[in-house]
Amino acid sequence: MTQSSYPFAALMRVTPRPERVFVRGEGSWLFDHEGRRYLDFIQGWAVNCLGHSPRVVVQALADQARELVNPSPAYFNAPALALAQCITTSSGLDQVYFANSGAEANEGAIKLARKWGQKHKDGAYEIITTENSFHGRTLATMSASGKKAFEPLFEPKVPGFIKVPYNDAAAVEAAITPRTVAVMLEPIQGEGGVIEARPEYLRQLAELAQRHKLLLIFDEVQTGFGRTGQMYGFQQAGVRPDIMTLGKSIGAGVPLAALVASNDVCCFEFGDQGGTYGGNPLMTAVGLAVYRQLNAPGFFAEVNAVADYLTQALAGLSRELGLGEVRGRGMLQALVIKPDTASKVASQAFDAGVLINAPRPDTLRLMPALTVTRGEIDLLVERLRPILAAC
Ligand SMILES: *Cc1c(COP(=O)(O)O)cnc(C)c1O
Repeated sequence: MTQSSYPFAALMRVTPRPERVFVRGEGSWLFDHEGRRYLDFIQGWAVNCLGHSPRVVVQALADQARELVNPSPAYFNAPALALAQCITTSSGLDQVYFANSGAEANEGAIKLARKWGQKHKDGAYEIITTENSFHGRTLATMSASGKKAFEPLFEPKVPGFIKVPYNDAAAVEAAITPRTVAVMLEPIQGEGGVIEARPEYLRQLAELAQRHKLLLIFDEVQTGFGRTGQMYGFQQAGVRPDIMTLGKSIGAGVPLAALVASNDVCCFEFGDQGGTYGGNPLMTAVGLAVYRQLNAPGFFAEVNAVADYLTQALAGLSRELGLGEVRGRGMLQALVIKPDTASKVASQAFDAGVLINAPRPDTLRLMPALTVTRGEIDLLVERLRPILAAC
């Protein structure tokens, strides 16, 4: 097909998109309709944790599609049970509800917290969330998000979310009232520009939660399932939440997400929560294949070695060109560049065959496959250098 014959106008315009059509992916590379290839440090927005079309995912989809695609959420299936057990064992939490997107998992977390407040805390329902946070694009998760741009949209919002500055435990403490049921945050703010929670902050929140009988909810949609160089972001601080949500990496590119909670919190009654596609064997078989890959001997040692190489490469580039700090952990990193240049850099990088995200006007975010190679990182630096130098 020639470019002009694609029916671009038939897709709702919800985001600016270059008029290119992507037809194939392989590892760290994406190919468009004209055969141009792009080195991919966006990876489906931090979802393709094993790169494009990894063998284990292709195999899991093909095998499971032949066996059973969807018996209905009213019946058990084997991949969902097996994956739920992997998640509870590895996280120390007890029960899993599978969903299809991060936002849906977060909706579930919000509902579970409110249900718990109803049953165990005099109807408390307020959830303290953080400024610059991102929890999804359903009405409740947009209401929970601390994104300034969301504030005027789709009023009236879902009430009951109190926003406080990130990394500020005193602000959380000051916001607690008898109506407060939970504190909800990302262990690393991803869309906010790769801002890490200090381990001390997370420990203080756990203490506050204990003292005021609040639930701690970690949105690990971006940080969970390996992105930070460990299975879960919370492991860094040694603070286990009462409720955790997963998405993105858990499906390695297919729609799969999870709401995970401790036994004490699980209080849904029949009919409170559900969804036609939740926990279908086709997607959970993929999650299981991803889990096994991440937990293969030596996998995380290699991820962390290469992540360290990426950090050094970015730091080198920053020194050489007089840029800013390098932030993040594992394969979720950011480089601070000159003010108001990030969108321009990302768009020029696209033209130079590099896919990179600009979450802030002065920040580039890197979220490559966990399996990205040192050679691909070298190539990234080589292609970014002249663009950054000219900005
Ligand atoms: C991407 C993301 C979401 C939303 O996930 P969707 O699958 O797009 O609904 C929620 N929280 C965080 C932290 C995310 O990064």
